[in-house]
Amino acid sequence: MKTFPMFLKMAGRRVVIAGGGEQAAQKCRLILKTEAKITILAPALEDELRSLVDEGRISWSIDRITPAIFGDTALVFVATGCPGIDAALHDLAKTAGAVTNVVDQPELCDALTPSIVDRDPVVVAIGTEGTAPVLARQIKTQLEQNLEPRLGDLAALAGRLRDRAAMRLGPKARRDLWRWVFGGEPRADHARGAERAAARRIKDAIETGDFTAAAPASVALVGAGPGSRDLITLRAVQRLQEADVVFYDRLVDPDVLELARRDAERVCVGKEPGCHNWPQDRINGVLVAAAKQGKRVVRLKCGDPGVFSRGAEEIAALKLAGLSYEIVPGVTAASAAAATAGTFLTERGKTDTVVLTTGTTRDNTTPDWIDHLARGTRVAVYMGINAAPQLEQDLRHADLLDETEVLIVSQAGHPGESITTCAACDLAQTIAESQIPNPAIIFLTRCKYGEPVMHQIAV
Ligand code: SAH
Repeated sequence: MKTFPMFLKMAGRRVVIAGGGEQAAQKCRLILKTEAKITILAPALEDELRSLVDEGRISWSIDRITPAIFGDTALVFVATGCPGIDAALHDLAKTAGAVTNVVDQPELCDALTPSIVDRDPVVVAIGTEGTAPVLARQIKTQLEQNLEPRLGDLAALAGRLRDRAAMRLGPKARRDLWRWVFGGEPRADHARGAERAAARRIKDAIETGDFTAAAPASVALVGAGPGSRDLITLRAVQRLQEADVVFYDRLVDPDVLELARRDAERVCVGKEPGCHNWPQDRINGVLVAAAKQGKRVVRLKCGDPGVFSRGAEEIAALKLAGLSYEIVPGVTAASAAAATAGTFLTERGKTDTVVLTTGTTRDNTTPDWIDHLARGTRVAVYMGINAAPQLEQDLRHADLLDETEVLIVSQAGHPGESITTCAACDLAQTIAESQIPNPAIIFLTRCKYGEPVMHQIAV
């Protein structure tokens, strides 16, 4: 990030706007949303600014401009519309040490004005560091549609009731209360204009501690998808944003972790270098312990939490401890890998059966996947890179080398993704020679009628 978003306190602080035309008026409109004291520097004012001066809402100075006038300001906007004058005024403002924004001259700006979605006191600021203002406006439009106009009033009401809630309810009950307020009936009531009913409900809930929040599960086993953060589900994002602690796997992409709350604890429970040693029973133990402390726990797993992820063992531990859980599915690697290769897991009349299998089982053997490789079947082998010689040997023993197509998709959805095809008799050699890295899916497809079935692959 070359710029960093912050919310400045503006109440009672000075903002100086140099310029008396439309550009200055635009900045003035923006800052009038705050409680800052605005001074306009200009020899003459356009009509809107003049009426604001007449109403006493802003002040106007026609004095000679020296650095002193920019002193002790929260912000300075330079908006005369004349690049030469703007540059000179910028220099004066900088002499005074002011944080300065020069309209349309990003290289002269200390601070850039974001696109704003205003539901005061809820404010969303969108910035693209000047790279894509149109994109910022599109995002703003989407947010404007998603955040109901009255949302700010509801947030303000919550703000007024915070102290009372703190007196009446413990920390966990309070978190549940606010989740219910913003995710349940009060928000729905408020959004449709029944503001009094919403307020009544919230106040009653604070007094009685009785509100109909659907008790959330203690632990959510969440699928992070194959890596790209736009291949995660909306529900998964929601759980991540609610989580107090996220236990994640080594293969979970850092981009996806960014979707968690900033103050959420993040613990890597991967089993590779860089992470501590996390045997499964230790992972089970920390999940149970965190949930028992009343934390909202997300166990974030790559792909789908139900596919080769030892989720069943974690759930068994949670059940044993009497804890509730929820499973949030994700895009499994085989789906993502097929899509990357421009193909499908099944294709009517050609591949009617899909088998998901693994190159490594608990006892370090390769499962008897070969028995499933009937005609018209596609086997997706997870964790198969190291088992490639064994896979090839199994095909040879079953006399299926000639009938089986091979497609290897490595790092699907990541920048280094690759797609490789080869003859089945060259499987192990291809992986070794091309040094195809983990994580990868090896698709082995037995043709239904002897014709190639993966002709559509976009290699
Ligand atoms: N739960 C995961 C699988 C975990 S096992 C899922 O549903 O996808 C880890 C294996 O998944 C890896 O060895 C690899 O075979 C596969 N895998 C995970 N991410 C992948 C990716 N981005 N591209 C290709 N294969 C991937």
